[in-house]
Amino acid sequence: MPALPALFVVSIDLEMSWGAVHHGAPHDDSPYRAEREVVSLVLAAMERHGISATWATVGHLFLDSCSPVSGVKHPEVVRPEYEWLESDWYALDPCSDITTAPTWYGADLVAAIKDCRVPQEIGCHAFGHLIAGDPGCSEESFAADLAACRAVAATADVDLRSFVFPRNSVGHLDVLSKSGFTTYRGATPPRFPNLSSWQRRVANAVDRVRPMAKTAVFPAVEGDLVNVPHTYLFDPHSATAQRFGTAAWSWLVKRRMHHAVRTGSLFHLWFHTHNLAPRLDRAETALDSLFGAARELIDAGRMENLTMGQVGARLAGTGS
Ligand SMILES: [Zn+2]
Repeated sequence: MPALPALFVVSIDLEMSWGAVHHGAPHDDSPYRAEREVVSLVLAAMERHGISATWATVGHLFLDSCSPVSGVKHPEVVRPEYEWLESDWYALDPCSDITTAPTWYGADLVAAIKDCRVPQEIGCHAFGHLIAGDPGCSEESFAADLAACRAVAATADVDLRSFVFPRNSVGHLDVLSKSGFTTYRGATPPRFPNLSSWQRRVANAVDRVRPMAKTAVFPAVEGDLVNVPHTYLFDPHSATAQRFGTAAWSWLVKRRMHHAVRTGSLFHLWFHTHNLAPRLDRAETALDSLFGAARELIDAGRMENLTMGQVGARLAGTGS
């Protein structure tokens, strides 16, 4: 038995239409229209199994309407200048309201997450889903984006502590820290960095079914921030999940959770709400299977369920 219980962290990227602005026009909002149902389904599963998560929410979703100021959309947000995007980052913002353009606003979703009977953390996923690690995103742009997030979150009485980088593109960590954030979600560390590419493919395939002790992941203090790396994408509609079927695929995910228990390490499940949208029944079955197994391990004292912010608070100042 490891000396410490494993950590079970769940982070959810909530972005709706904002997750597609990097594609530019035309925009089709139909893939995002089911996401309110997804949020309800996930919150109900949280309540059934007593699980807390970090909801990394795009800042613009705190709003229920917006309008241009002197003809400019969100002029306080300094624009990134990406080489690959010709239009303004906010060109697709409808400057409308939640009834007319429900996939661009989400004040009701923020309220629903806050009202969950099992406490949830609301984290940050940038104001307009900007890509911080791209060279086109300046420090000034990222700082202005975070300030805009903090301003809208304050109106909902939310103090943002945890950050998830859109497209997992990590950058400007010093700006993140100076903007009052304590915790971020980093990438899964490379599992077999010293192997050749074909050896790595074989090792990853074996590790997926029979996880090895050396692929355990731990949160890490990095200066003033705590990095809580993601370790597993929950995607019940992935090609792998469809090939194995929901039950067998859920079993594979649980193998990774038990691996964290054996090694006293971190199991950090993450997904976008749109990962669950195509088949809600399948998503619910997989969530119940996984959260049910997690609850048994938590009740047995072998695993703790913490939000990203709680992991950050626990590790802050430990320097290890
Ligand atoms: Zn707007």
